Amino acid sequence: MPVELDWENLGFSYMKLPYRYIAYYKNGQWEEGRLTDDATLHISESSPALHYGQQAFEGLKAYRTKSGVIQLFRPDENAKRLQRTADRLLMPQVPTDMFIKACKQVTKANEDYVPPYGTGGTLYLRPLLIGVGDIIGVKPADEYIFTVFAMPVGNYFKGGLVPTNFLIQDEYDRAAPHGTGAAKVGGNYAASLLPGDQAKKAGFSDVIYLDPATHTKIEEVGSANFFGITANNEFITPISPSILPSITKYSLLYLAEKRLGLKAIESDVFVDDLEKFTEAGACGTAAVISPIGGVQNGDAFHVFYSETEVGPVTQQLYDELTGIQFGDIEAPEGWIVIVD
Ligand SMILES: *Cc1c(COP(=O)(O)O)cnc(C)c1O
Repeated sequence: MPVELDWENLGFSYMKLPYRYIAYYKNGQWEEGRLTDDATLHISESSPALHYGQQAFEGLKAYRTKSGVIQLFRPDENAKRLQRTADRLLMPQVPTDMFIKACKQVTKANEDYVPPYGTGGTLYLRPLLIGVGDIIGVKPADEYIFTVFAMPVGNYFKGGLVPTNFLIQDEYDRAAPHGTGAAKVGGNYAASLLPGDQAKKAGFSDVIYLDPATHTKIEEVGSANFFGITANNEFITPISPSILPSITKYSLLYLAEKRLGLKAIESDVFVDDLEKFTEAGACGTAAVISPIGGVQNGDAFHVFYSETEVGPVTQQLYDELTGIQFGDIEAPEGWIVIVD
């Protein structure tokens, strides 16, 4: 039975739950991971994760269905992405089986904190891989910690899907052209804190970053990917080696084509071409789908569908995606993993 919490009004905040998973990598191999009630990491002051950013993370959710079953959405994709990130930063891969088992164990151990069906809430899982140990020179660590912790988070949208405005950023980049933009690492976020803060102070939800080489194409929002819908029934999302490959985005590309009958396209999205979009949104595990009302681009302000109402295609995509995640709509094969 879920514990007593104000499920309808959960935000996106840290909450210390009873259990988390932890595994140590030593002498070239992963030791057996386990659950622990200790929420504090004890690591060397010289850990490469702290100094040189040798760390990676993931984010996925556990959903409670109408029948009370708890399920994960495409955790194998998170496992594979963490492996690609690990390769980029010379960290050991966490095997897919180990990753999924850890996510299931943490969800099961904290199952009373998985929000009830119908509240829109979910259990957010945060896997983290860090290089630790006594090293001060710039080189990869010999030892690593893989941990997964969790917390209940609320429905992003209390009164339905409400569009917000974004600021197109021409001064700062979140990643370099051939840097770590496609890796889910804290360093990209460190680079985005200042522009993100400036955008929020100016009244925008967040920044939309441009391609770092030419600043002519849309890349993504700081923590979510961008998509647009055209009057010709196309679902278009930018393609670039410095965008973080969002699992939500790839799921939407599939659903747009197979379930909504749209033409799903990954291509360049030029800032000068925004007029062709009748709707636009930001997508990611945390944001789900966040409709974009308008974008400020220098002196110009461009509205997509409306600043106050969600567009019909964005709404359909949202209903299809969340219907699958909460078990109300049949999922494409392999997308759902039951926590048992
Ligand atoms: C995690 C993340 C996303 C969203 O990816 P999902 O797999 O859909 O959660 C988008 N952009 C950045 C920069 C991210 O770190």
